[in-house]
Amino acid sequence: MSKIKIAELFYSIQGEGRYMGVPSVFLRTFGCNFKCAGFGMPRGEMSHEATDIAATHTMIEAFTEYKALPLVSTGCDSYASWHPAFKDLSPMIEVDGLAKAIVETLPFGKWRDEHLVITGGEPLLGWQKAYPDLLEQPCMAGLKEITFETNGTMRLTSAFKEYLTKWKITNHRLNREITFSVSSKLPASGEPWKDAIKPKVVCDYENYGTAYLKFVVATEQDIEDALKATEEFRAEGFKGPVYLMPVGGVESVYALNNKTVALAAMKHGLRYSDRLQVPLFKNEWGT
Ligand code: SF4
Repeated sequence: MSKIKIAELFYSIQGEGRYMGVPSVFLRTFGCNFKCAGFGMPRGEMSHEATDIAATHTMIEAFTEYKALPLVSTGCDSYASWHPAFKDLSPMIEVDGLAKAIVETLPFGKWRDEHLVITGGEPLLGWQKAYPDLLEQPCMAGLKEITFETNGTMRLTSAFKEYLTKWKITNHRLNREITFSVSSKLPASGEPWKDAIKPKVVCDYENYGTAYLKFVVATEQDIEDALKATEEFRAEGFKGPVYLMPVGGVESVYALNNKTVALAAMKHGLRYSDRLQVPLFKNEWGT
């Protein structure tokens, strides 16, 4: 039986992108290939918030559950889903039990209009090998829509591609759909362009589902970077829509630039994505 290391499992409303406003189960897998310590920092500087919290946790085992972890205003707002210091908070779960736990979060105990978001961390790391097993569990049969929230750097494995092809063909008439929400990381994240902008990888996602790009931006420079990256993706043949989304895991930061980003999206003919979990739920864990 396959297992997946799960950082969080919760039911909420999707706050971002194509399915904004849709009731959704979020499955947050553990592990990421990035750190994104540059978010919310002056260009070239890196946030120490996550590493400081991790140091405290390592020294005195300060936190016994996710809900107790502090929110950060700089760096990756999902730091506990990849920082090795917090791996003890993320249990390895067999997919049969996990599927049941997913369905138990649904308001009616069965799939109706809810969609499943597999997020991270980076959900397309090694866990690709376990998803077929998870999605084929009997209680997942009523699920119609799945989104993988990815940073767009991980190639799909041959085995997973084979499964997705079968899934697409089998489920086409049932309107079941796979979406890749690709948040490629711009230089503001602190990650180097050559490692983060991977047009070939992302274009391949379009062969197995619907894909869109979602760039997190705060400044004019970020918007220019998003436009430059969009050109690179288009040059490679990427067809899907492109969203601009304001930076801000905490409300004070988000509120500073959401309208500016919306206006920039209009100006450049791009889509705007809010991050509803911030104004609605203060981006607390489990939302
Ligand atoms: S890719 Fe996403 S989860 Fe990974 S460090 Fe960056 S923001 Fe965090």
